[in-house]
Amino acid sequence: MITPPLPSDVLARYPGLEKFGRTATRLHPRPGAVTATGSHVGGPLLWPAGEPWPTCDTPYMVQEEVPLPAELVARMREAESRRTQAHVLADGELELHQEIARLVGQGFSGWGSRDGGPVVGYRYGPRPHAGPNPMIVLAQLRAADLPDLPRPGGADLLQVLWCPFEHALAPWGPTVELRWRREADLADLLAEPPRGEAGTDGYVPRPCRLNPERIVEYPYPDELPEDLRRLADEDEEYLDTFLAPGWKVGGYAKWNLTDLLPTPCPRCAGPTTLALVIDSSERGSARWQPARADGEPDHDSDEPTEVVVGRYGALRIFVCLTCPDAPFLVDQQ
Ligand SMILES: [Zn+2]
Ligand SMILES: [Zn+2]
Repeated sequence: MITPPLPSDVLARYPGLEKFGRTATRLHPRPGAVTATGSHVGGPLLWPAGEPWPTCDTPYMVQEEVPLPAELVARMREAESRRTQAHVLADGELELHQEIARLVGQGFSGWGSRDGGPVVGYRYGPRPHAGPNPMIVLAQLRAADLPDLPRPGGADLLQVLWCPFEHALAPWGPTVELRWRREADLADLLAEPPRGEAGTDGYVPRPCRLNPERIVEYPYPDELPEDLRRLADEDEEYLDTFLAPGWKVGGYAKWNLTDLLPTPCPRCAGPTTLALVIDSSERGSARWQPARADGEPDHDSDEPTEVVVGRYGALRIFVCLTCPDAPFLVDQQ
């Protein structure tokens, strides 16, 4: 899989940008059979037999339906019918919305009907796991395959596990565990990992092989010095040109939802390094559209892993490389 090169005149439009170039390795996951060895998404791990498998005991969020009284629905329909423009509320309609929100209660997220059924209110509420819930494998990544994988403490293998539900965390989403290891230390491996509760669609990865490719990225505009930042802000193509979509290790993070946020180490409050981006899709601009070896566009890049994060966003893992045990931070955009 090959990403088209940066057109030669593009960097020249940004005098001084070149020195901010940083390598990243795109993972280009594609469905395929995987074994415990090697780098992959999903599938089995090289896991020491004597080490407890990570579990989650954080309650997860489920959508609940709350019946609405027929006379309240009738009043709402009557108010809606008095609208003079489809997107402007009629007199009294806002108060009815507030009445529904009060009735549905905490975690209110709206109302509607499924398949022509009665109109119900929706709310999100926490539900505990039946017991400590065994996590599932998200990825195993070897430094030997992925040159931009951080190596805290000299580790050469990263294992990523998560509990595949929406949890009431900041950000909402799976609870995540990382294990940094040295492959040479691994002997006496676990044959069969424990199974947990069936997860939410979008958080259970389809096993994929990786097709690592090293590229160069440039910072999100907020990270640039003022003169370059102004140029980048004026260029609608900047993000699509200089930051790659899709799963990757290393490189720079995009901040298109929130603008740049600090990512302090949860232990020392010092700066962290972008270790891994888990993206819903690697579809992006033509600049990053991977091609197959024969030069044809690779159309398997849309949702190769079937992992969809949040509202079709990306989960990013930042790691502190100076603290022992590499504490990490998760962010979603
Ligand atoms: Zn959980
Ligand atoms: Zn730290």
